[in-house]
Amino acid sequence: MDRGWGFLIGLLGAVWLLSSGHGEQQPPETAAQRCFCQVSGYLDDCTCDVETIDRFNNYRLFPRLQKLLESDYFRYYKVNLKRPCPFWNDISQCGRRDCAVKPCQSDEVPDGIKSASYKYSEEANNLIEECEQAERLGAVDESLSEETQKAVLQWTKHDDSSDNFCEADDIQSPDAEYVDLLLNPERYTGYKGPDAWKIWNVIYEENCFKPQTIKRPLNPLASGQENTFYSWLEGLCVEKRAFYRLISGLHASINVHLSARYLLQDTWLEKKWGHNITEFQQRFDGILTEGEGPRRLKNLYFLYLIELRALSKVLPFFERPDFQLFTGNKIQDEENKMLLLEILHEIKSFPLHFDENSFFAGDKKEAHKLKEDFRLHFRNISRIMDCVGCFKCRLWGKLQTQGLGTALKILFSEKLIANMPESGPSYEFHLTRQEIVSLFNAFGRISTSVKELENFRNLLQSIH
Ligand code: FAD
Repeated sequence: MDRGWGFLIGLLGAVWLLSSGHGEQQPPETAAQRCFCQVSGYLDDCTCDVETIDRFNNYRLFPRLQKLLESDYFRYYKVNLKRPCPFWNDISQCGRRDCAVKPCQSDEVPDGIKSASYKYSEEANNLIEECEQAERLGAVDESLSEETQKAVLQWTKHDDSSDNFCEADDIQSPDAEYVDLLLNPERYTGYKGPDAWKIWNVIYEENCFKPQTIKRPLNPLASGQENTFYSWLEGLCVEKRAFYRLISGLHASINVHLSARYLLQDTWLEKKWGHNITEFQQRFDGILTEGEGPRRLKNLYFLYLIELRALSKVLPFFERPDFQLFTGNKIQDEENKMLLLEILHEIKSFPLHFDENSFFAGDKKEAHKLKEDFRLHFRNISRIMDCVGCFKCRLWGKLQTQGLGTALKILFSEKLIANMPESGPSYEFHLTRQEIVSLFNAFGRISTSVKELENFRNLLQSIH
């Protein structure tokens, strides 16, 4: 009961204990140690240590994952960035150039990808409704057997069903556009201050199962409330704690990225992006953040392990012979599928996975309620992304929330995946192209963050 998650959370806690003076650790000395002191060494009695994760990610996974994410299938993501914020009206759209998202022209996206979606290019948006309907059914009719068509109907039902952790983005809206993720990298945008805090505030305050009376200081100048917050957090059941850590891990990852691809120079001649060590230290140095920074980096590793676990579980879905990463370029599509399977087998071979079966494994009624709460909170978070006043941040926020939501959907569909037929349509479990693209890109972001931590560690060591 609660073994897997409790285990991992326990081991993260053990590292915290170690670093709070209960172990035999040397006092941190260098700037590098101050950021990473609590994020190194053994994570409890699991053979899991941060260094093993780093080695596994940085040398075995990261390079292959990057290659996969550069392929056409994964680089084009359809997103509606114009959905109104459902919570408040006064979104001040960040007018900075670095916040802008450049959507794809319709001829830039491979036809295979466009025709795999229901409603796609600018031209398609102008077609009359029947035409769209015919096209949609045509796309299904041409390539799919009767049996598969039946499955598609099931999938659509399933996608609308209560198993989804994210608010499905309205990709059939005329406002939805393809975005080339490689041309719109996640990096420093200048989105900050009260507007950005408000979003993080709502995410933590309203969605992390937190009663009003418990305050988590969001203003960086506020202090002294951490202890109350953490003792409340430690008293929670593992699932709720895990929820907080996932969000905090995502927050940490975003902030690692903006520190690693910071706008270092902005002249009329050129823009230079690169590592900003001061920015990184301000966010993650143990002393400057009163211990919060390293704790957040641990949450990033926690998020990494969760998404890693989901990917290892979903292997049978991608292994089925009729699954394709369809773009219309047969040779490329086959090569990409081979690379994807190689990556997933590599992930499966990682020895330090934890057992999430125990998640929501308590009393059946209670477990059901908790899972439902969890799902609803998560859906709310995906809606909050429509309130982010910087389009670039909104794009990556939406993608990463959808990716994490997909990872959770996989983790809670273990039985359905296990019962999936080896070939032919799967009626019970399905992932849409949007879910697949967001799942891998979201994991790619966390994997890049882990790699960037190594870069920062080296940079900090080299200056001291
Ligand atoms: P914030 O990061 O705004 O944090 C607010 C407070 O939350 C902090 O003072 C601290 O108390 C607490 N906190 C900070 N980190 C954590 C954590 N990991 N876990 C728990 N608590 C924490 N900016 C960009 O430049 N590029 C982007 O792509 C980008 N994407 C964003 C996406 C979203 C969805 C949002 C909401 C913001 C994004 N931002 C982005 C803004 C960025 O995350 C920060 O909000 C901004 O840089 C201001 O940082 P800050 O130091 O004031 O603290």
